[in-house]
Amino acid sequence: MKTEFVSKRAKPYADVPDEKWNDWRWQLSNRLNTVDEIGEIIPLTESERKALQTQGLFRVDITPYFISLIDPDDPEDPVRRQVIPRAEELQAFTAMMEDSLAEDRHSPVPGLVHRYPDRVLMLVTTQCASYCRYCTRSRIVGDPHQTFKREEFEMQIEYLKRTPQVRDVLLSGGDPLVLAPKILEELLSRLREIPHIEIIRIGSRVPVFMPMRVTQELCDMLAKYHPLWMNIHVNHSNEISKELAEACDRLTRVGIPLGNQSVLLAGVNDNVHIQRQLVQDLVRIRVRPYYLYQCDLVEGAGHFRTPVAKGIEIMEGLRGHTSGYAVPQYIIDAPGGGGKIPVMPNYLLSMSDHKIILRNYEGYIATYEEPTDYLPSKAAKFKGVKRVEAGQEGLVSLLEGKEMFIKPEGFDELHNRHGIQHRLKNEEKWKPLGIGSEESADGTKE
Ligand SMILES: *Cc1c(COP(=O)(O)O)cnc(C)c1O
Repeated sequence: MKTEFVSKRAKPYADVPDEKWNDWRWQLSNRLNTVDEIGEIIPLTESERKALQTQGLFRVDITPYFISLIDPDDPEDPVRRQVIPRAEELQAFTAMMEDSLAEDRHSPVPGLVHRYPDRVLMLVTTQCASYCRYCTRSRIVGDPHQTFKREEFEMQIEYLKRTPQVRDVLLSGGDPLVLAPKILEELLSRLREIPHIEIIRIGSRVPVFMPMRVTQELCDMLAKYHPLWMNIHVNHSNEISKELAEACDRLTRVGIPLGNQSVLLAGVNDNVHIQRQLVQDLVRIRVRPYYLYQCDLVEGAGHFRTPVAKGIEIMEGLRGHTSGYAVPQYIIDAPGGGGKIPVMPNYLLSMSDHKIILRNYEGYIATYEEPTDYLPSKAAKFKGVKRVEAGQEGLVSLLEGKEMFIKPEGFDELHNRHGIQHRLKNEEKWKPLGIGSEESADGTKE
């Protein structure tokens, strides 16, 4: 049964005039962060009180809009668990790491993580509209004294200008959409001045925490910097309100393709039925489920972790059971900086020279006969692209596989200045990818 997406407003906000409620600045300045403020909207448990009264806890802030999505009578409400801390957050685990993805180690300049050959992650602010209790970057996020830093931004731009293999820049943080509108636009326009940057992506939970920020004006501004993609972050269908549906509609109408990244969280969405409803509700609002992440080894987030087997079970319950468009990839971001690794149920049962044995989502077993006359040496040749403008020859040689990494001028000096041991230093490591190389699929050189 298709249900309508609804608007909600917690009782204490009943008298707030609509102009205020629908104004993102009002939402930001009326965020809740103390035990008294939150307790006025939702009767708190002992565990939540204890956590909220603890000094030095990872920052708490909840927009009036988002707290209104919580059922105040349900201590296990899935929205509540994402933003209201519990005593378990205070436990330290030996397996937990401050910078579990080793992002700092992969930063050629502060705030820029260059982990993959052709794309970078740019941390443009430490601020968010509300703070997720399982935040992967709780080590840096939330600090009110460390917001957008111009000096760092200039260094990031310099690095990008000198690094032609970067064709994809992912803006994250913190949340890029809480930046002052002028700064956000400056950032986008400066990136667009760099000819080798093909796509810009924004990772943001603002549409979810504060959909009123996604004004038509913001959408029109973003659309000036196409091709621009956006990933939002929804973990449970209860977060999909009428307001979020409308915000996503505005974004997709200006041509921004939307994806969703969710995190598998114990007690929130570690259930195949919850996940199936989530992904189906997302495609209804034209948001394509992109990644489902295994919870990272982050200090304070141990109680959110599930076994990987739970994620596999969920993927098994999605593939085949619902639209392919609705099926995300399940990802473990490897601790220590190994990057994102997709994990899947096994559908390939066995493999020989001439046939492979598969199973489908229902357990039906099928055989696929391999071709007997396939010649790897006759595989299509990659001829590169013919759309390159003067001054971008470096990019061409990258695309043709002649070089996987061009060390930009001043690269070593930058590294030394920041004392960063970057794996880019080891140029050898960038070669095995073989993208567009002359080596054919079976590894034989022609
Ligand atoms: C996640 C991430 C990206 C983007 O990865 P995609 O799989 O392309 O979405 C890029 N850089 C870093 C450091 C990341 O963590």
